[in-house]
Amino acid sequence: MAIIGKDIEQAIEVLKAGEVIGLPTETVYGLAGNAYNSESITKIFTVKNRPTFDPLIVHTSSIERACEFVKEIPEQAQLLAKHFMPGPLTLLLPKKEVISDLVTSGLETVAVRIPSHPLALDLLKKLDFPLAAPSANPFGYISPTSAQHVDNQLGDKIKYILDGGECKVGIESSIIGFFDGEIVVLRKGGLAIEEIEAVVGKVRIEEHSSSNPKAPGMLKSHYAPRTRLLITCNLLLVEEDTSKIGYLGFEKFSPNIPLENQLLLSPSGDLSEAAQKLFANMRLLDARGFDKIYTELLPEKGLGRAINDRIKRATTQE
Ligand code: AMP
Ligand code: MG
Repeated sequence: MAIIGKDIEQAIEVLKAGEVIGLPTETVYGLAGNAYNSESITKIFTVKNRPTFDPLIVHTSSIERACEFVKEIPEQAQLLAKHFMPGPLTLLLPKKEVISDLVTSGLETVAVRIPSHPLALDLLKKLDFPLAAPSANPFGYISPTSAQHVDNQLGDKIKYILDGGECKVGIESSIIGFFDGEIVVLRKGGLAIEEIEAVVGKVRIEEHSSSNPKAPGMLKSHYAPRTRLLITCNLLLVEEDTSKIGYLGFEKFSPNIPLENQLLLSPSGDLSEAAQKLFANMRLLDARGFDKIYTELLPEKGLGRAINDRIKRATTQE
């Protein structure tokens, strides 16, 4: 098992040796390695069992430092960076040579993020290289939102997990690209579309799939528990034997399923709280050995859109 601790110096030592660590961020935990070191990058893909067509996000501590590995920052990107970085936003920017094709899966752009989690920021400031980090889960499974989640699944493959407590945002970053002067949201995430549009005006939201070359790795089926997850409407749910059925609800319990089989995302209907609890609650229900888990979609506004995106991918089997 990995060592779980809050020791930044130890994390730095492991990273400098070319190893990977579990990294707390405000979105989800990352599996981080030196973005300039090909061996570290290869380890990330191997530990996660991630296909090499799925590029990694590169984390740094400031937009000034991003200039070490980014060629230019379009005006709209600078505006977004000013408003939302550090935070749950990832910008696709033209890369310099120092970022290898391994990191970007051969693309000319690199995904850049500045996490707002204090431990992550502190670590990044002390390092003289940026960190490439995808989410610290086996490919396709639910993303981790605590150090324990990382340890449960990848603990035997990594040396150190920096423990930053539970992730505050709980879902991955929003990913934005700039194509021919157009601003495109390639992944709905922890920064709501409404907040983005308040700063840069109307954006295009692109539905991603594995065949979309602009967003490689955005597979239809993702973030999925092992137990079959199905979307249902509360009132229509009538099953003969409900003892082996779990339920993940938004605000209200289902009247048709035993209460002890149910978890709610936010009894007060708060979308931020729902995002924060989504993956942890999916994991808790997944561990109960139910035959299947029912869930419901949330209102399609604010963070509800990103949550619904995760729920739909988690229910897709292909
Ligand atoms: P994860 O780190 O697991 O949250 O996944 C990162 C996601 O960012 C990938 O699955 C890609 O869809 C997206 N991504 C990373 N780099 C690029 C890039 N250069 N162009 C387009 N999408 C990217
Ligand atoms: Mg991921």
